[in-house]
Amino acid sequence: MTTALFWFRKDLRIKNNHAWVKACETHRVLPVFVLEPQIISNAGLHRRNQFFLNLSALAEEIQSIGGRLNVIHGPASDVLPRYVRENNIDCLYFNADTTPFSRQRDEFLSNEISAQTHIFWGGLVHPPETVLTQKGEISKVFTPFYKKWVTIPAPLSLQNVQPVFVSGRENDWEIEQDLIPSSSDVGHRGAKERLERFLKVADDYQESRNIPSVEGTSFLSSDLHFGTIGPREILHRLSPNREGHRQFIRQLAWRDWYAHLLYANQEIPLKAANRSYENIQWRDDSEDLENWEKGRTGYPIVDAGMRQLSATGWMHNRVRMITASFLVKHLLIDWRKGERYFRRTLIDGDVAQNCGNWQWVAGTGFDAAPYFRVFNPVLQSKKFDPSGRYIRRWVPELEGMSNSAIHSPWEYDEATLRKHGVALGETYPFPMVNHAEARDRALATYKKARE
Ligand SMILES: Cc1cc2nc3c(=O)[nH]c(=O)nc-3n(C[C@H](O)[C@H](O)[C@H](O)COP(=O)(O)OP(=O)(O)OC[C@H]3O[C@@H](n4cnc5c(N)ncnc54)[C@H](O)[C@@H]3O)c2cc1C
Repeated sequence: MTTALFWFRKDLRIKNNHAWVKACETHRVLPVFVLEPQIISNAGLHRRNQFFLNLSALAEEIQSIGGRLNVIHGPASDVLPRYVRENNIDCLYFNADTTPFSRQRDEFLSNEISAQTHIFWGGLVHPPETVLTQKGEISKVFTPFYKKWVTIPAPLSLQNVQPVFVSGRENDWEIEQDLIPSSSDVGHRGAKERLERFLKVADDYQESRNIPSVEGTSFLSSDLHFGTIGPREILHRLSPNREGHRQFIRQLAWRDWYAHLLYANQEIPLKAANRSYENIQWRDDSEDLENWEKGRTGYPIVDAGMRQLSATGWMHNRVRMITASFLVKHLLIDWRKGERYFRRTLIDGDVAQNCGNWQWVAGTGFDAAPYFRVFNPVLQSKKFDPSGRYIRRWVPELEGMSNSAIHSPWEYDEATLRKHGVALGETYPFPMVNHAEARDRALATYKKARE
């Protein structure tokens, strides 16, 4: 029997991991995770914790079936060739990724390593370049992509194999264990629990998914990012005949679409996908950027979202749209700066998803929101958080305000505000910008860039 190195990356699971099953079917396996330096340096506290918790859960899963996860310190392009040689590896199995970093690294390694390489796409429902238009391209518009995407079968490999393990020659795992807080809500088990919980309310998804004070979404985004569950496993629990389920399936298609787009357009993290917007005259104002990051804009719904993000590493999708739009359109700060902050801070921070969504909000992406669509944060707040419950949760200094006043405290006179325990400029900031003026400025700036 030959020896395969199974390289875990953004697929921190052994259940329903087709690549893993394939490696174990025909080889002895050496399970390896390479701790790349940027996994630590590019991630904020919450994402780093989430990562270590999931890695630790994977190590336990492997241990429970008699193996050991070998964690070695990267960069992978430096350490893997030597590791493969020293452990007499015959072949390498892994799930690929669409980011420029991983594609360049994997290409380099496939030339550098003599062992045969077997590549899978277990992080997506369909691999890149498999959902194409008649011209053989990826659609730049979502709906035609989706229409094709849903018709392609996505089977789940359910074989259960008992691997024959070999042990590696290096393991630094103990060093990292100090960093790990304990939690049972992680790994494949945690992801399955989240899925089961969501399935109980999935029929209401279409209505509840937009209300940030309600737990109406699945909270599976970080599981999908780290691969503690695969998207096909989720898909197989959903029924396209049920409206809520169908809407959820559509979201999984958005996720694939952004990944496929990044695969085909590797400049998306750096450049406007729609090149007519590459020359927007952004404002370079680090103080405004910091006030946005810290949730001190004076717009309660924006501040609530930004504070939820820094406190928990997660933010509701509707509020992501509102806060991102505020940075780009109201403050006229480059979407790349917001994207960087989100990616670092979110537990699901993901190059393809984050850049795709930021470009959508900024109006610079494929099939993006039109440039003249400037979210009004007060109207959004009244519509999606009518009782102010979400705002009160994250902006407690406005707790005493009435349901109607909480969305725009500056519209009320001093005496009324004082009655509710609020003093603008002291207990809560004045709004950073006036909505109508900011909107006009954004429209004029975008128009100029198009010319
Ligand atoms: C500015 C901005 C930045 C974002 N950055 C990220 C990011 O870095 N990583 C990330 O996973 N999602 C990102 N999203 C998309 C979306 O907000 C999250 O996927 C969602 O809020 C996660 O919560 P959930 O798992 O409960 O979602 P659910 O509503 O339960 O959706 C199920 C799954 O569908 C996928 N999905 C849902 N909405 C989108 C979407 N708009 N685009 C792509 N996939 C989607 C996710 O994988 C999600 O887990 C971003 C959205 C915006 C507007």
